[in-house]
Amino acid sequence: MISRFVLIVASVLVLAPITFIRAQEVQAVTSVPSPGLPPGVAAASNPAEATRAWLASIPASEKIRSDAYFEGGYWLLLWNFLLTAAIMLFALLSGFSARIRDFAERATHFRFLQAAIYAAAFVLVVAVLSFPLDYYQNFMREHQYGMATQDFAGWFFDWIKALIVQLIAFPILLMALYFAFRRAAERWWLVGAVVMMIFFVIAAIISPVYVEPLFNKYTPLQNARIRDSVLQLARANEIPVDKVFVVDASRQTKRVSANVSGLGSTTRIALNDNLLHQCSLPEIRQVMAHEMGHYVLNHIFKFFAFIALLALIAFALAKLLFDWAVARWGDTWRVRGIADPAGWPLLVLIFSALAFLGTPVLNTLVRVQEREADAFGLNAAREPDAEAAVALKLGRYRKMEPTPLEEFIFFDHPSGRSRIRMAMDWKYAMLPARTSELPARRE
Ligand SMILES: [Zn+2]
Repeated sequence: MISRFVLIVASVLVLAPITFIRAQEVQAVTSVPSPGLPPGVAAASNPAEATRAWLASIPASEKIRSDAYFEGGYWLLLWNFLLTAAIMLFALLSGFSARIRDFAERATHFRFLQAAIYAAAFVLVVAVLSFPLDYYQNFMREHQYGMATQDFAGWFFDWIKALIVQLIAFPILLMALYFAFRRAAERWWLVGAVVMMIFFVIAAIISPVYVEPLFNKYTPLQNARIRDSVLQLARANEIPVDKVFVVDASRQTKRVSANVSGLGSTTRIALNDNLLHQCSLPEIRQVMAHEMGHYVLNHIFKFFAFIALLALIAFALAKLLFDWAVARWGDTWRVRGIADPAGWPLLVLIFSALAFLGTPVLNTLVRVQEREADAFGLNAAREPDAEAAVALKLGRYRKMEPTPLEEFIFFDHPSGRSRIRMAMDWKYAMLPARTSELPARRE
């Protein structure tokens, strides 16, 4: 549900390597579902047994593989944070950040432009230094686990395009932020949080129109049977769309995904071509009903409200830490204060640490919304077995049965087990004719 542009912006900003990146709907599927239910599902006498039967249908080797893939992601969170921290410390301690600032000051007397020049140089340096991890995480590893479809040239071209987007967006942000910092004096943390949120909202609005098309093609869905079925769901839920879009995600990946992006008039519901080609109609309806849940439940606005609150808290803490660090080491680093762009790596360091520590909070926020969308989707599409089938396929690249603590810390969607259990609870309560008996209550 979070657009790529917002992700790109977020990744160079405060929430650097953390959870947001995975807030997109990602649902992995590799083959068309076999007809019928896995053995034992139909005969199960209660939701718990039915859930077990679904989970038991996963081959052991697949489970080991998907667990390994997903658990590797836990470590990547740490490596990304450590790399960001190392780059920021290097920029401060080596005086590199101050040198870029000096260069910008020599280049122009306009403070606006000084911030923009600093920002562009910062983006380039960070992009180069984080390239090896970026390459491993997003190219090599995706190929190792059989998810990527792009060759290196294609991937690298996308990487360049993302870099260009950053080179345009990031200087604009720093021009606005440092203008605010210069004017606001002691209240920079408050004004900074406001500027950041405004930037975030604008990014979310323009991204579906100007950024996402740089990476993928969005075309109206032509298949009448599927389109009409999805639009029927939309009409039934008062969603004002007359088109469903298909995005050619198979350019980059085999994963199935769907998303709601944009704000206001740029709102768009899109499913990707992998979903279209690899899932049955009930499964597509179930996934799209989930996405509509995000729309109807105003998840994007609630998400922004929550992020605004977190941004305020983060900026307030940043003020304490930034002022303390600059009072202590400002002379050594040649950072003059908050209005000096040379201090930007210190802000990023502080925000990255807060975001890293806040991973469970952000994940839980997103996961709670995902659970709400699941509930909405079940009520709207009424296809619990399709929901379970999609959860299983998704489980090829996500751990199906994490411990509760793992789910709390690392999961931005409910685990496969939770999703199947929810679908089976719904099925036994609402479609007793399709189950052998109604359970008295959930265990
Ligand atoms: Zn979702």
